[in-house]
Amino acid sequence: MYLFSSLSRIKEPFHVPLDRPITLYVCGVTPYDTTHIGHARTFLVFDLLVRYLRWQGAEVRYCQNVTDIDDPLFERARRDGVSWQQLSEQQTDQLLTDYTGMNILMPTYFPRASEEIDAMLPMIQRLIELGHAYEVEGEVYFSIKTDPEFGKMARMGYEELLALANQRGNKPHDPKKRDPLDFVLWQRGQPDDPTWPSPWGIGRPGWHIECSAMSTRYLGDQIDIHGGGADLLFPHHPCEIAQTEPVTGKRPFVHIWMHAGLVWLDGEKMSKSRGNLVFARDALREHGPNALRWYLLSQHYREDFDYSPAAMPHYVQLAADFIEAVTVISGSGPELDLTPVLQEFDAAMADDLNTPAALALLHAMAGEIRAAAADGRKVEAAVEEVRDRAIMMGFVLQ
Ligand SMILES: [Zn+2]
Repeated sequence: MYLFSSLSRIKEPFHVPLDRPITLYVCGVTPYDTTHIGHARTFLVFDLLVRYLRWQGAEVRYCQNVTDIDDPLFERARRDGVSWQQLSEQQTDQLLTDYTGMNILMPTYFPRASEEIDAMLPMIQRLIELGHAYEVEGEVYFSIKTDPEFGKMARMGYEELLALANQRGNKPHDPKKRDPLDFVLWQRGQPDDPTWPSPWGIGRPGWHIECSAMSTRYLGDQIDIHGGGADLLFPHHPCEIAQTEPVTGKRPFVHIWMHAGLVWLDGEKMSKSRGNLVFARDALREHGPNALRWYLLSQHYREDFDYSPAAMPHYVQLAADFIEAVTVISGSGPELDLTPVLQEFDAAMADDLNTPAALALLHAMAGEIRAAAADGRKVEAAVEEVRDRAIMMGFVLQ
């Protein structure tokens, strides 16, 4: 199959190995306000990838983390007067309930950053020894000047990188930094933030090092596929590369970087500050898992998705028509042969998960089955092939 790599910006051949496990790491949520449609779409895309690889006979080791050490979580817990553990626990439970509702498979590994500090400390220590990081008054920073390829995936100049990092939590005026774009590996944090002991004093890790530590601990020094939402194209994923490769001494850290486009709501950016978040659980309750999945996969995963509640009835109908087609009674007339369309379907999926084409073909095949069954033709084998692919895509069939 081919998968688009965000680093090389081309569709790279990916030969699905059957003699060793495929390793996949996907950056998970900060559990304080889960699970909006943006999360749902990203995790559906990677759920589909896992299902598709397993359908071909591969073993997939899938690690998705929970970023339970992160400023927004601590701020929300303070605002609501609950402990950060309580909030994190409650929101992670909600996420898993939403996954079940959406028929999203559980990852093989589901580590929480707060339980993985012992994997982060040696990485930070090693980066200091190698001269890639420096300590100032109990805080440790990664020195981006020591990595000539820093930020390559974003394809931007320094000023643009800095502006983007600043929008996403970078503190450019921190006087302890040598360069405004240097990023934090260990910090003291706010007085009531959770802290852990370290060689540099009590504090907590920076966000980026969490994923480097968890991905290498669970999946090894080099991984096949690393994914997340497109908002991680910078700074998060380039920071992960910059930290991980010197420590392991192995390049590339990741064979293929995959990013799912962002989700908009009726042409507007969906965000907490605009108050226009749509939650997966509400969409699920109203429309069911098949319609939601069909809709969210109806556009290619790399494109931004403009979610429109007004579009949902169409997908509810599509999903219902499909279920009807794969439960028809077979006749005894001439057998329906869908081989050419099935081959087209398989080719679409192998082409960087072209789900808009694959779903259109699934719909077309359902139509052929219904028509053939109405003519009293034999459709059993065709139904079997189509059901197999629909289950592979994660649809719930009775
Ligand atoms: Zn991450």
